[in-house]
Amino acid sequence: MSPRLEDLPLREDLRGMTPYGAPQAALPVALNVNENTHPVPGEVADDILDSIARALRDVNRYPDREFTTLREGFADYLGHGLARDQIWAGNGSNEVLQHVLQAFAGPGRTAMGFSPTYSMYPLLTRGVGATWLAGDRGHDYVLTPDSAAAQVADADPDVVFLCAPNNPTGTPLPIEVIEAVYAASRGIVVVDEAYAEFAPRDERSALTLLPGRERLVVSRTMSKAFAFAGARVGYLAADPAIVDALRLVRLPYHLSALTQAAATAALRHASTMLAMVDDIVAQRDRISATLSALGFQPFESWTNFVLFSGVDDPAATWQGLCDRGVLIRDVGIPHSLRVTAGTEEETTAFLDALASIGSGS
Ligand SMILES: *Cc1c(COP(=O)(O)O)cnc(C)c1O
Repeated sequence: MSPRLEDLPLREDLRGMTPYGAPQAALPVALNVNENTHPVPGEVADDILDSIARALRDVNRYPDREFTTLREGFADYLGHGLARDQIWAGNGSNEVLQHVLQAFAGPGRTAMGFSPTYSMYPLLTRGVGATWLAGDRGHDYVLTPDSAAAQVADADPDVVFLCAPNNPTGTPLPIEVIEAVYAASRGIVVVDEAYAEFAPRDERSALTLLPGRERLVVSRTMSKAFAFAGARVGYLAADPAIVDALRLVRLPYHLSALTQAAATAALRHASTMLAMVDDIVAQRDRISATLSALGFQPFESWTNFVLFSGVDDPAATWQGLCDRGVLIRDVGIPHSLRVTAGTEEETTAFLDALASIGSGS
């Protein structure tokens, strides 16, 4: 008989933990993990494939450890006068966040976020042997500068995560909150802008706060707006000294030559890759409006998903949708469910299925 987890000489601090586990069911309409459900356009896919094919010819050699070309690509894409020595990247922004924690948290140290927030922050924190501290949000999950700064000053964490806009609630994060938290902290302040491309166009990014703030980190991902979740590419912008610190903890050659080639090629087509963002935002707003009409309470969202409350029995509604071929997410918030905005057809399938189940209270 194979040993059970409890029988293994597992680290004490990992006992009782559960791994990240969004269900991966093969349903016709999958709106559960905030992917971009639009496939990569054909002509872009062809160019990416050519780049990967060229990289493959040299795959007997290790890749550029400093992924210089890719960092230049990200610096150009982000703008704001950023240079490549201010850019870091990894296999998804999850890995980038893990690098930050490995360098700046670890045993005896703490990382903090404001619940409910991205479920990977506590998992990544515990994974590096640090302690997770959960702060609170106000009414409708909104974070105010005074409250956030007071909580950070009180907890004095080594790393603070500000998810802007927040997952799983969709809540925008005012730039004043970032300024206040930075001023109240002595540790690293990570602003996770995984969904930044879905925010209103005229909104300021935390990237504008980087000059003069050497403890500030702004992370991004190609997984959401860029329709590149399966390629696993995330990145951040920060002071060059922070980027140097991350080199201490990354595995050598952590970004494969194929990943670097694919991401660099995709960045050359940024505007085509991002062409679906407006469509997705329109579907998101349609979801919110229809949910209200059905008697649910959607929360304001600047992302590609909507959290809604007023669900009498989330587990039953989730199952009812599953039975109708639609997968969404129960994020464990009472009387609430979260749905990703899909294509128009997928969104219609979700809204019709939900209407047929009913029970908005
Ligand atoms: C999806 C998501 C990420 C990114 O994940 P990748 O590892 O880049 O795929 C990061 N932060 C938040 C808040 C997310 O929702």
